[in-house]
Amino acid sequence: MKAIVIGGGIGGMSAALALEKAGIATEVYEAVKEMKPVGAAISVWPNGVKCLNALGLKAQLRALSGNMAFMAYQDFASGATLTRFSMAPLVRQVGEYPSPVARAELQAMLIDAYGRERVSFGKRVTQVEQHESGVTALFEDGTRAQGDLLIAADGAHSVIRHSVLGEKVERRYAGYVNWNGLVETDASLAPADQWTTFVGEGKRVSLMPVSGNRFYFFFDVPLPKGLAEDRSSVKADLRRYFQGWAQPVQRLIDAIDPATTNRVEIHDIDPFSRFVSGRVALLGDAAHSTTPDIGQGGCAAMEDALVLASSLAAHSLGIEDALLRYEARRVERTRDLVLKARKRCDVTHGKDPAATAAWYQELRQETGERVLAGMCETIEGGPLG
Ligand code: FAD
Repeated sequence: MKAIVIGGGIGGMSAALALEKAGIATEVYEAVKEMKPVGAAISVWPNGVKCLNALGLKAQLRALSGNMAFMAYQDFASGATLTRFSMAPLVRQVGEYPSPVARAELQAMLIDAYGRERVSFGKRVTQVEQHESGVTALFEDGTRAQGDLLIAADGAHSVIRHSVLGEKVERRYAGYVNWNGLVETDASLAPADQWTTFVGEGKRVSLMPVSGNRFYFFFDVPLPKGLAEDRSSVKADLRRYFQGWAQPVQRLIDAIDPATTNRVEIHDIDPFSRFVSGRVALLGDAAHSTTPDIGQGGCAAMEDALVLASSLAAHSLGIEDALLRYEARRVERTRDLVLKARKRCDVTHGKDPAATAAWYQELRQETGERVLAGMCETIEGGPLG
């Protein structure tokens, strides 16, 4: 059996590794000539970590991960701590560490584990054709690839999704802009072993440790879509949006490098229930595109990969049946994640100002128990428990 994997992102590479581990040959086709991931870093939560462990990447991932031993929320104006707690109870309950990693390093780890020379870069799929015994991918450069099945891991803007669903879906603007990047750790910004988030005015500023004495930082601001802002104005924009915020936030704005700071208008897609058509299966953001508010998009793509491989490994009723089993095991789980993230997004970003004000109050009383319980529920809902 040979699977054609379209897209060499987190989803496509996890899928290719998982399929090969299950004894299924793969070919990976990636549109860009050189991977330049959008977003500086990503938190791989223990459900994602367990998937990467199952792919044999435990030691590599651990080496790239920051030590997120504590979590804290700070008041936006005074900088005072609203709540601070240890992540140890979460690790004890779910049996793995949350693992924030630089995105380029995670991407490189996955590609190198598969074999960089085996990935066909610069191959943009334009169309997919199915026939009785297999699938053909047609590329922009006029070439084709044949396989028994095709995994569409071509991201949130998937060109293959339409042919699986039979209809076009629109991305939904979530109402806020996210700036993100990496800076050196600095105790005057936040403790190096803590995920620190300043909250107020429906905005947030977050610092999360990754390896190599670096923080992954991000700023969120509720804004209209399509503003004329880019890297050239990033410091002035952030100074304006975060005027009056605490000293560490001002120092962070001073410290960032505009050339490597990303500005992303955050979107998601209303969940849909069809991931498969015949021998073609959607995976990762192509199947379920979420806001990053619970940090689960990439983790869900890793989960998809493992479930896909285990469904295909037990394909006694044929490939099409196995893919439908994959779909049946993933639709509800990923719908839950997308909707949970959307809910969190709205509370965090002041969609209903009263609900956001109530959340700020709750944080003052938070001991960690409720936040960690919510995280554990999300993590333990994954296919590896
Ligand atoms: P992508 O990463 O989009 O990869 C798709 C690949 O397909 C790309 O390489 C693209 O070039 C290629 N491609 C596209 N079209 C074609 C084509 N026609 N032919 C061939 N190749 C094609 N997730 C987490 O788990 N934790 C986090 O903390 C987290 N933080 C996030 C923060 C931000 C700001 C954002 C925007 C997202 C975050 N996510 C996070 C979500 C995560 O980034 C995505 O869910 C994940 O990257 C999805 O992987 P993917 O492989 O499905 O898609």
